[in-house]
Amino acid sequence: MTADLLTIVVAAWNEAEALPKLHPRISAVLDGLRGDQGLRGRVLYVDDGSTDGTWQVMREIAAADPRVSLLRLSRNFGKELALTAGLDAVTEGAALILDADGQDPPELAPEFVARWREGYDDVYGTRTVREGEGWLKRASAHGFYRVMQRLSKTPIPVDTGDYRLLSPRALAALRQLRERHRFMKGLFGWVGFNRIAIAYERQPRSAGRSKYNLWKLWNFALEGVTSFSTAPLRVATYAGLATALLAFGYGVWIVANALLYGDAVQGWPTMMAVILFLGGTQLMALGFIGEYLGRLYLESKQRPLYLVDTWLPAEGVQSEATLSRGGVHDAYRQASAGGEGA
Ligand code: UDP
Ligand code: MG
Repeated sequence: MTADLLTIVVAAWNEAEALPKLHPRISAVLDGLRGDQGLRGRVLYVDDGSTDGTWQVMREIAAADPRVSLLRLSRNFGKELALTAGLDAVTEGAALILDADGQDPPELAPEFVARWREGYDDVYGTRTVREGEGWLKRASAHGFYRVMQRLSKTPIPVDTGDYRLLSPRALAALRQLRERHRFMKGLFGWVGFNRIAIAYERQPRSAGRSKYNLWKLWNFALEGVTSFSTAPLRVATYAGLATALLAFGYGVWIVANALLYGDAVQGWPTMMAVILFLGGTQLMALGFIGEYLGRLYLESKQRPLYLVDTWLPAEGVQSEATLSRGGVHDAYRQASAGGEGA
């Protein structure tokens, strides 16, 4: 029954310039899908706490197109959580995730849908070219995906972003993962089921600027590694072991030396070098542990993942869905029920 329903989910943060360019493309694609494959299409825009006029633009788009639902978060929660909120709200049919900036061409949707109908649950776009992105971003992305793949036991395909179609059962599975530190690419991989790649050329941004600078990307990479691998902790273990062995050998040598040739006070440089080296490694290992501990701490607070400011479901969309699935407490739900849809 829901095999004929597709919702395109777009998370947007300050994309007032890009959205008006994107929507006509999505709209045309959905019209085509309806004609060719008898697929009912919907769109869900998630406003991730934009401060530029994105919400206004969304309201205008929704007013003109009855297929469009809008979800506005209470502040900027970041792309991973904005996507989570969007996917939580898709309780029927499949979902196709797109970036708001047009880098993922909506025109490929029929290919994704065809794969879904063949029985695939996670159809993901793998980029063959990344146009309009600097060499540093491309190189670091290239390296990151490969390191991630080696570190983590979860299958995370290389050069694959969030551009993908998820079947209803993949969505249902994803909804059960309520961790607060969300590295979506890893979560998609964790879910498993039947997966297939579709190669595509990543376009340059249609308007506006990338929301990710190198520092943000670095932190994002850290998030990925710590969410899906405990390898750094093991590095600390082995580095400690190796240092201990070396130190033991060196200790034996010093004692033997002293016994055989007497104990002249010497070796200030060696001592300093050893102290500094050991201090450094210990701090590093503590840092590794701290990264994990900090995440454990935040996880243990059991906060809701995100808060919804406004939910404007399109005609026919189950409207209870989002607020109850977001891990939002009942009290909040009751308090905000009055303002819902305002
Ligand atoms: N985005 C978001 N919340 C954020 C940052 C980004 O919803 O805090 C959205 C953004 O509007 C876009 C997508 O995530 O639709 C990808 O962002 P961007 O194009 O800046 O990333 P890049 O393509 O440069 O990696
Ligand atoms: Mg982009």
